[in-house]
Formats: sequence, structure tokens, C-alpha cells
Amino acid sequence: MKKQTNIDAGYFKTKLEKELKTLEAELRSVGHVNPDNPKDWEPSSGVVDINASDLADIADNIGSYESNTAILKPLEKQYNDVKLALEKIKKGAYGICEVGNEPIEKERLEANPAARTCLAHKEHQL
Ligand SMILES: [Zn+2]
Repeated sequence: MKKQTNIDAGYFKTKLEKELKTLEAELRSVGHVNPDNPKDWEPSSGVVDINASDLADIADNIGSYESNTAILKPLEKQYNDVKLALEKIKKGAYGICEVGNEPIEKERLEANPAARTCLAHKEHQL
């Protein structure tokens, strides 16, 4: 019988690469990469027409900036976690809890291949 640490990294790599593409497409629909920091995504503010005389239009633009920010933040975190997980696969350190160094439950990785901690440490702030 296989030990829990013998996880199929290739299987999760395929899943993670697929998720990375999906997340990137979603991020691009609400924001763009910060030119000064490729790890940072900035929300798009929509096209602001400085000649807009209609205050409702300006309010719409501010509203879309705020909702883009709300959508972008969790996406950005997940995107960075997925990238981190792919780096760990490269280093052969995938599936190890970042808090206690124990193997992450297979069911947990199945539900979220980018999980950085085991179930017991899931509330730990990273
Ligand atoms: Zn742990």
C-alpha cells in the first residue's frame, strides 16, 4: 500500500495548470498586472471619460473599480497559491503542510490542489 506522501504530482500539476489558466483569464477580465510588480494585480477602473458631464457615469466607473477590487483580491490570492503549488511540484515538495511539514490529506488536495496547509492547520494565516 502506498504511503500518503506518495501523491501523484503529475495528476495535480495538470489540474493546477488548468486552474492557473482559468484564474488568469478571470483576473484579466477585472484587472491587469502591475507593471512594477508582476506578482501584483491591479483592478481595472473602467474607461474614465474625463469629459463626462453625467455624474451617474462617473459613479458607475467608481462602482466598477470597487467591485473589480472585491473580485480581484481573492482571485489574486488563489492565483498566487496555484503558482506556488506548481513551484513546489518542480522542487519535489508538493503536498507538504507549510505550518507543520506533515503531508496534506489527499482529499484536501483533491478539493483544492493549491492548498498550502493540512486540514488541522487550515485556519493558519499564511
Ligand atoms: Zn499542518
